Amino acid sequence: MGSKMSTEQRNISRQLSGNATTDQEKCYDPQDTSLTFVDGEDDLDFLCSDFKSLRAKMSCGHAVTPTSLYEWCSKLLDKGECRFVCGQPKCNVEWPFLEVCKMALLTPEEKKNFEEKMFSNAADDLDIKVCPGCKSRAVRADPSNLCVQCTECTAAKKRTYRFCWQCLREWKGPARSDRCNNDGCVNLRVETLRNCPDIMFDSVKGVTGCPSVRACPTCGLLLEHKRACKSMVCPRCKVKFCFVCLKLFIECQKITPGSAYNACSTGVAPRQTSIPVWRRK
Ligand SMILES: [Zn+2]
Ligand SMILES: [Zn+2]
Ligand SMILES: [Zn+2]
Ligand SMILES: [Zn+2]
Ligand SMILES: [Zn+2]
Repeated sequence: MGSKMSTEQRNISRQLSGNATTDQEKCYDPQDTSLTFVDGEDDLDFLCSDFKSLRAKMSCGHAVTPTSLYEWCSKLLDKGECRFVCGQPKCNVEWPFLEVCKMALLTPEEKKNFEEKMFSNAADDLDIKVCPGCKSRAVRADPSNLCVQCTECTAAKKRTYRFCWQCLREWKGPARSDRCNNDGCVNLRVETLRNCPDIMFDSVKGVTGCPSVRACPTCGLLLEHKRACKSMVCPRCKVKFCFVCLKLFIECQKITPGSAYNACSTGVAPRQTSIPVWRRK
């Protein structure tokens, strides 16, 4: 890393980066024979904090201290990730959660916190919900059916218990796939896509009727148009797409070569009526 920072600069840059910094630095026990200590740089100390702890080797070969690892993993969770990948450029090795717990010296409370964030991040991607009856995690066999039966609740209540995947209440009315009879059983994200105002494009010529909120065509994250041009990079899946025609931006450029300020020859894609589900490779 480059030049060293003063303690004050360090604190400021930590505040700016929004990291959850533990008050006290965690240190490895030098007597812990299950760790491999190494002499050298802390590979995850991106803010040059110079942690006092001994450096230990992760399974990917990079050296960390408990605090640098904790901060890096917290940052991944805040970004919506549910897996822990080494932060060294070109490494990309995924560490098992147990390794993170051990190497970041997570307290039981921190571990619980991490697990909750991992679960809620993964649930967004994987179509997992919590049953309103028993609070257990549920997956559904048919992704197009909102009416889901919970086996646990059915057994406990000795009657068929179904809940609604959309409004997350006990199912009301006859079993059907698109919505239940509870008041306000609507998908708020789909409603946003349906009702958001159009963009007033000053900069992209000849485009009218383009909604100002789109679901990322790759991962389904809702994104509001804020930039002048029509291309957008999704902060979650990092895929660049065209806000107007909803194709990958490379595809859009193939069909309509030119700048990101020209209308697409395939026109404005209609308002989306469902949220794409992310299929990670
Ligand atoms: Zn690594
Ligand atoms: Zn249940
Ligand atoms: Zn419902
Ligand atoms: Zn995306
Ligand atoms: Zn386009």
